[in-house]
Amino acid sequence: MSQPFQLAGLPTLSRSTVDRNEMMRTDEARLAKLWATGKVILLDDKGRTPVGAGATALATRPAVRVADERPPDALLLGEHDDVGYWALQRSERLREGVASPDSAWGLWTGAASEDGEEWHDLRTVGALLDNTSAGLYTTAVGLASWHARAGFCAKCGAPTERVNAGWATHCTGCGREEYPRTDPAVICLVHDDRGLNGENVVLARQPIWPPERYSVLAGFVESGESLEACVAREIAEEVGIAVGGIRYLGSQPWPFPRSIMVGFTAVADADAPLRPADGEIEEARWVSRADLRAAIEAGGEIEGLKLPGPTSIARLMLTGWAAAG
Ligand SMILES: [Zn+2]
Repeated sequence: MSQPFQLAGLPTLSRSTVDRNEMMRTDEARLAKLWATGKVILLDDKGRTPVGAGATALATRPAVRVADERPPDALLLGEHDDVGYWALQRSERLREGVASPDSAWGLWTGAASEDGEEWHDLRTVGALLDNTSAGLYTTAVGLASWHARAGFCAKCGAPTERVNAGWATHCTGCGREEYPRTDPAVICLVHDDRGLNGENVVLARQPIWPPERYSVLAGFVESGESLEACVAREIAEEVGIAVGGIRYLGSQPWPFPRSIMVGFTAVADADAPLRPADGEIEEARWVSRADLRAAIEAGGEIEGLKLPGPTSIARLMLTGWAAAG
């Protein structure tokens, strides 16, 4: 019996094992202990972190080797197996000879340092990390991205200071508190109305993407807008079709710099003509399940069709849909 399709698994950046108990963020004695016995994830100015060559865990440092006492900008990520995990971002280049990843889509291998470690970014290695490391790194990048833009009060303009082990800022001028911001974005797999799960899926490409790269449709939620209304609006704007049967699939944090991708599926008339939005969508097309399966089985691309990378929720949506029906 056929079932409505689902994500092909838990999104790679939604994995996590650490305890995020917020009580420990204000418990000074506990924080001192978590530092003394803790481990630090180093981030460079681009949010990259060291990973051992071929390893699936982050190359952390004992916190006391980084500093005797907890630095004021240290970010507490959580606790796991009695170990506190922290993130520290430094603006200076932490290793020489490290190439920059060209894009979110590109495969990239950082130059190895003398100790065999390679500095990678989250999009590149997120899918390769174990559950604990994936969750820690995602949280570290999200918090660090927020702090990079939270140094001054949005209300009065005075400098802010970090409190709650990095989970809030306090304005030195007006006392306003702010907490890490997250911008919701919807992402939606649209299939046709032939059978329960359809026979074809809408894929589109933006002009700035590498040639032949396609993905499902996505857009930011506007003020005063529900997630479902955003799905319908974005699809109408981007490819000019009406959808129904909007259904939630799952979500994934996407801290580039501070989004969460909320995944949906929706159904459209199989005969609906696609009208790509000028300037925003270069091309949109219906792709058959057979062609999508071929691309997935070939590792993510066939001639004329390159899929989004394995760290993205889009890939899991497409893989789940390809396996259904
Ligand atoms: Zn203020």
